[in-house]
Amino acid sequence: MHQGFLLQSALMISLAVASCAGTGNSRDAVPDRAKPGEKLARSNPFKGARFFINPGYVANVEATAKRHPDEADTIRKVAQYPSAVWLDKIAAIANLPAWLDEAKRQQEATGQPTLTVVGVYDLPNRDCSAAASAGELKVAENGEARYRTEFIDPIAAQFRAHPHQPIVVLLEPDSLGNLATNMSLPFCQEARSAYQRGVAYAIRKFQQPNVSIYLDAAHSGWLGWDDNRAKIAKVFKHVLNDAGGPDMIRGFAINTSNFTHLSNRDGAVLEPTNPCPNELSYAKTLGETLAMYGFNHHGFLIDTSRNGKGGIRSKWGSWCNVHGAGLGERPRAEPAPGIDAYFWLKPPGESDGTSDPTQPRFDEMCGGPDAAKGAPQAGQWFESYFMDLVHNARPPL
Ligand code: BGC
Repeated sequence: MHQGFLLQSALMISLAVASCAGTGNSRDAVPDRAKPGEKLARSNPFKGARFFINPGYVANVEATAKRHPDEADTIRKVAQYPSAVWLDKIAAIANLPAWLDEAKRQQEATGQPTLTVVGVYDLPNRDCSAAASAGELKVAENGEARYRTEFIDPIAAQFRAHPHQPIVVLLEPDSLGNLATNMSLPFCQEARSAYQRGVAYAIRKFQQPNVSIYLDAAHSGWLGWDDNRAKIAKVFKHVLNDAGGPDMIRGFAINTSNFTHLSNRDGAVLEPTNPCPNELSYAKTLGETLAMYGFNHHGFLIDTSRNGKGGIRSKWGSWCNVHGAGLGERPRAEPAPGIDAYFWLKPPGESDGTSDPTQPRFDEMCGGPDAAKGAPQAGQWFESYFMDLVHNARPPL
């Protein structure tokens, strides 16, 4: 993952006049439940659901607990909370039937809807402005067609095979945000149409009543500025026009795999020109911007896996295994107005990228001053980092 970040010009600074600090009107209340005839996308899928817990994640936590017997009880608490399952390569789709079958089994055993959150993350030229999460598909190597037929189609088939359980899709983190701000990079330029068409295709393919889609909308430290919010709103509008309209998605995911605090003033210290100093102010203000572009009934999903502790970064743009981070708010529905859920989208303890400069996919950010050392490749279990997240958890475990 890369959480892109560009310094703003003086012109942009002068445009940054609005209202993350809370002067704007609050967003319209999001209806809780779809009324008959209304699209299901308008109801909050997290409300009233219990959450699927990934046995693979539990196994990682359990192995760590065994290696730390003095702290095992605290460590095991983490395994009680859900996190997203990630489809980050074609081969990972092989895990999806078992995850969805197990969620269905739990749903039948408990008699309560059991929600699975699925990260869909394999666009061609993935993570186009960084190295750590470079993916398997390339635009120049027929990646767009392969994305549709070898990745999205089989996922959609699995969703169709599981029509009676709630599924949330976190769609392609770091993709459309790059189109908003990183078009000066050739690899992102090359990706542009493939990202737009690929995301629209996935949205169309995943339309079924039990599937709710959240498009990734980066985080306050990337798109919080007025001009960047307008840019991303235009990108969303373009993609949703192609996909069938704004109601094809339930909402927007923010802070995915990032570290920005929900409510403190870190952002105001690190980037005083950014009117959105934290994620709750970003959700509110981005919601106001998006409403001007036709997104009126959408909910926000906020990744709170690693944003519990503030004051940990020297630069807001540091996105890789930030040292000193702690687990954040526990996953739950409707934690604040306009917010569908806090959720652990990034499974806490999985690395953002290797810190070893001799390894493939090394990104400078993962060897930088804010990044924890000894990190394995993105997605791999990073035990010492997991232990830090446990020790620094806010609220404590
Ligand atoms: C990695 C993926 C991984 C995901 C969740 C991303 O940064 O690139 O491989 O599945 O994080 O840990």
